[in-house]
Amino acid sequence: MTITSRDDSSWPELHEAQRRVLLEVLIHGAQSRIELAAKVGLSRASLTRLARELVDAGLVLEGEVRANGARGRPREMLHLRPESAHFAGVKLTGDALYAVVTDLSATVVDRRELPLGSRDVGAVVDLIARVTGEMLAARARPAAIGVCLAGDVARRGDELVVERSAFLGWDAVPLTRLVAEATGLPSTVRNDVQALTGAEHWFGAGVGHRSLVVYGLGAGIGSGLVVRDDVVDGAHGRPGRVGHARMPREHPRGRICELGHDDCVHSFVTIPAIEHNAGVPAGEYGRAIEAARAGDERALAAFRSAAFALGIVIAEAVDAVDPEKVLVMGEGVDMMSLAPEELRHALADHLEQVDPTGVRIERPPFDFSHYARGAAVAAMRDLL
Ligand SMILES: [Zn+2]
Repeated sequence: MTITSRDDSSWPELHEAQRRVLLEVLIHGAQSRIELAAKVGLSRASLTRLARELVDAGLVLEGEVRANGARGRPREMLHLRPESAHFAGVKLTGDALYAVVTDLSATVVDRRELPLGSRDVGAVVDLIARVTGEMLAARARPAAIGVCLAGDVARRGDELVVERSAFLGWDAVPLTRLVAEATGLPSTVRNDVQALTGAEHWFGAGVGHRSLVVYGLGAGIGSGLVVRDDVVDGAHGRPGRVGHARMPREHPRGRICELGHDDCVHSFVTIPAIEHNAGVPAGEYGRAIEAARAGDERALAAFRSAAFALGIVIAEAVDAVDPEKVLVMGEGVDMMSLAPEELRHALADHLEQVDPTGVRIERPPFDFSHYARGAAVAAMRDLL
């Protein structure tokens, strides 16, 4: 079978075996045809034919050079051609749009940040189409667009729909279809932390792991799960909700959450909660960090409570999923370095017969563009 689209303007239609080979090289890097044939479960003759088809489509190339020190015949190595396709990723907040373009290796090659202006669905879709259109115009093979946002994204029939987004005030918005219609490209939508989870699984700290728990901490708290090598999307678009577990009674009261609690994880772990509990003005998170580092007792207490709250949610997920790794990401993860002993206390208190020191918790590199990159990877995951 040959690959349908041989031009450089759109993503080619790949059949299952072609996809599996491409995915191997995409996630695990250049490999010899012998290794690939074994991993994908194909004869060497079939693999040779598939490799040729992927080379013809421009997505991979047969390299002469193998990484230093390795044995084997270098001519058989199959490399990804990252520059052969491009993906746009957009992260929406309540007031801004962050857009990136990545190549096929999920490397960000362009980024932009714009104020939303309006939260009206039509206006936001127009802005997404304009910005991604400009950014992809000069790029080889614009393949697909992904959008992510805080909120619930559920499958209705064949369609991914934004069920609810508190920051945007959206309800039941068929964003996938609207973006696809406005851009003419295959499109997808994700919850932002689930988008981040998919990107870490394929291209970040989760590569090679079949189970992960990922937290995104910032204006809110979200989590993503990878189980058996796939991102859990839930039956109703609501997996990984963790924010309203209650803190032990001896903790002070915190910021009142959207559900009216003053003693839940949300009351302590989010950036607005930390600002409030530390006694700094809203939007001055950096001052809370400075005060805690300078030994200010109230600020330190805010970060200790945040660390304890994080420990509770990590313990719940570890007990539920038993993951290989826990990744804590986002712009509000400073409780991990400011109050590590509180995090350990919470894990020790809440884990069921698990040694907290055996729980592998990592803090991968993060900046805010990781969410938009996650959306681009979501678009890639849907195609592959
Ligand atoms: Zn709550």
